[in-house]
Amino acid sequence: MHDVIVIGAGPSGASSALFLARKGIDVLIIEKKKLPRYKLCAGGTSKVIFDILDVPPDFFNAFSIEKLRVVYRGEEKEYSVPPNNIFTLRREEFDYKLTMLACQHGASLVDGEKVTGIEEDKRTITLETDLGHRFKTRYLIGADGVGSKVARFIGSNFKYPVPLAIQKDIPYENPDPTISLFMGLVPMGYGWIFPKDGMVSAGLGAYKFPPREMSKVLSSILNNFNHKNIPLLAHPISFYRGKIRLARGNVSLVGDSAHITDPFSGEGIRNGIKSAKVVEEVILEAIKKNKTLESYTEKLYSLFARELFLSWIMSGVFYKFQNRIFSLMDRFNMGYVLANLLNERTSYSELFKKIIKSII
Ligand SMILES: Cc1cc2nc3c(=O)[nH]c(=O)nc-3n(C[C@H](O)[C@H](O)[C@H](O)COP(=O)(O)OP(=O)(O)OC[C@H]3O[C@@H](n4cnc5c(N)ncnc54)[C@H](O)[C@@H]3O)c2cc1C
Repeated sequence: MHDVIVIGAGPSGASSALFLARKGIDVLIIEKKKLPRYKLCAGGTSKVIFDILDVPPDFFNAFSIEKLRVVYRGEEKEYSVPPNNIFTLRREEFDYKLTMLACQHGASLVDGEKVTGIEEDKRTITLETDLGHRFKTRYLIGADGVGSKVARFIGSNFKYPVPLAIQKDIPYENPDPTISLFMGLVPMGYGWIFPKDGMVSAGLGAYKFPPREMSKVLSSILNNFNHKNIPLLAHPISFYRGKIRLARGNVSLVGDSAHITDPFSGEGIRNGIKSAKVVEEVILEAIKKNKTLESYTEKLYSLFARELFLSWIMSGVFYKFQNRIFSLMDRFNMGYVLANLLNERTSYSELFKKIIKSII
């Protein structure tokens, strides 16, 4: 029997395992895909995640961003970004290296095996996989992403429509270290081109926009790339839409399975890793005091809920007034604003105050 089993080897699951293994906890990761595995993602992130992980960006070949370009219906603005603040990651490499690091610190891994059944009695949680294996644990972390099986198991069903994002990953040697954001393409969404180590990821995320039309809109920003034979992939985004149950008994949820992706920045990696840090604290205390993980929901939301709510409001304002926001950008150095926001040197509430001050 294990102290902890983590289902899913994405950033949230791998970091949960890493934090707990570093504290000497016996932890097993079960991942349905063979690692390294591909995950559709633009991979944008910030320095703060490497600080939380206590691993330098170079370890993951993180690609440092130097400029931000914002395009609104053909008009462009460019801003410099302070060095080593914003990065992009190739997720197959980042997730794999993070998982291997957890294993080096003592975690165990079963990959290529999908959890198909979860049972619990008073003391033990038993997992069954598609290969017929059974694993027992005292505590369970659901890091199994959007549509989480563990979330359903604890009765934490997400009731809202989940927006769709599409993306093409185009091989590209030495791309320019500029992230491009495209506004005004669709009513409730935006497009992006993110350079990475040896490729660019170009995508579009939108609410309530016909998926077929999305691919046409994406093509309109890809004129400079040879992308005809590159597959177009789609995946839902697990945006925050209000509080849900994140723990029951000895079971908890982190990352996308907890629906804590930032609705404005679209970041799920940072919040996933931060939720792993919170669950680490709750599990360490639970093991010490022979408790359940019930306090986790309140603890996580006391740290996250206000900013996530403001981010949600901010995204609504951003989509509704794209034209106005684009012209307001001249009053700010957007590269620094973004770097400060993603690195938590400023908050959404402070940003709101600044925007209102600049309007009145
Ligand atoms: C197109 C797109 C672009 C994005 N861009 C960004 C971005 O620029 N920056 C950012 O921060 N975020 C971005 N996101 C969001 C980000 O990808 C997610 O928030 C992030 O992957 C969440 O990590 P996670 O570990 O919680 O879940 P995941 O990365 O989804 O990992 C879940 C893992 O669980 C495994 N699993 C699922 N079910 C089972 C099972 N039954 N048994 C065993 N294993 C199982 C899966 O195989 C998977 O490996 C983007 C998302 C999309 C779709």
